Amino acid sequence: MEFTFRTVGIIRSCFKEKFGIPRQPGLAPDARATLELLPPYNCAEALRGLEDFSHLWLLFVFHACPDNQQRTTVRPPRLGGNQRLGVFATRGTHRPNPIGLSVVELVGIDQKNGQWLLELKGADLLDGTPVLDIKPYLPYADSLPEARGGFADNAPPPSLRVEFSAEALACCRELEADRPGLRTLIEQILQYDPRPAYRKNQEIPRVYGLRLFDRDVRWQAGAGWAKVIEIVPAGPG
Ligand code: SAH
Repeated sequence: MEFTFRTVGIIRSCFKEKFGIPRQPGLAPDARATLELLPPYNCAEALRGLEDFSHLWLLFVFHACPDNQQRTTVRPPRLGGNQRLGVFATRGTHRPNPIGLSVVELVGIDQKNGQWLLELKGADLLDGTPVLDIKPYLPYADSLPEARGGFADNAPPPSLRVEFSAEALACCRELEADRPGLRTLIEQILQYDPRPAYRKNQEIPRVYGLRLFDRDVRWQAGAGWAKVIEIVPAGPG
């Protein structure tokens, strides 16, 4: 059977590229995003009662996953990228249908010039992500502290200590006027070491770019540390 789904809204987030996006929502609680509702859901009625929930489930499309190969196994980054597990035992993006599921904090509901907006925190979503559905998080049904979590039983331990150059720190302070919590967000992202597994043991630290908002956060990493060197305006794309 085949089904067609409609997009109910579009995510606007600080993540302009896939590199550096946290692997699950809770890992960067300060990652803010806005969900712009689309007609016919861009109205007060569709959101009535939502303000009483602190968290939401979002069902969305991994729209930036190029291939739709029907793989039965994948290599979760959490296992170092060299062990295969069944696709249904992972939360990776390459799946039978490119559908993602994230729980996010709902921090506000706004309306600007006729556009209804859900203000979210803790998002692991790329800018432009199409959202298929929004469901309230029900603590009594959805929170199962005794559940077993397989290879990802606990949050991954942070593996890098994050430092800033004096220049990067000054830049953060300036940018925080418009982007509150920027420094904390950068720390939350880099502490989990977004580098691909095969790059992690390289001897000569190379400089990486992390696109956040309209900035390029340039950083280096070595054994147990990451250092933000500078934060510069991002180039196109
Ligand atoms: N919480 C979701 C996502 C887990 S995979 C779930 O369990 O289904 C997380 C990765 O999804 C992130 O590291 C990011 O690189 C990727 N991602 C987020 N939004 C995406 C999008 N719109 N298209 C493709 N990949 C996306």
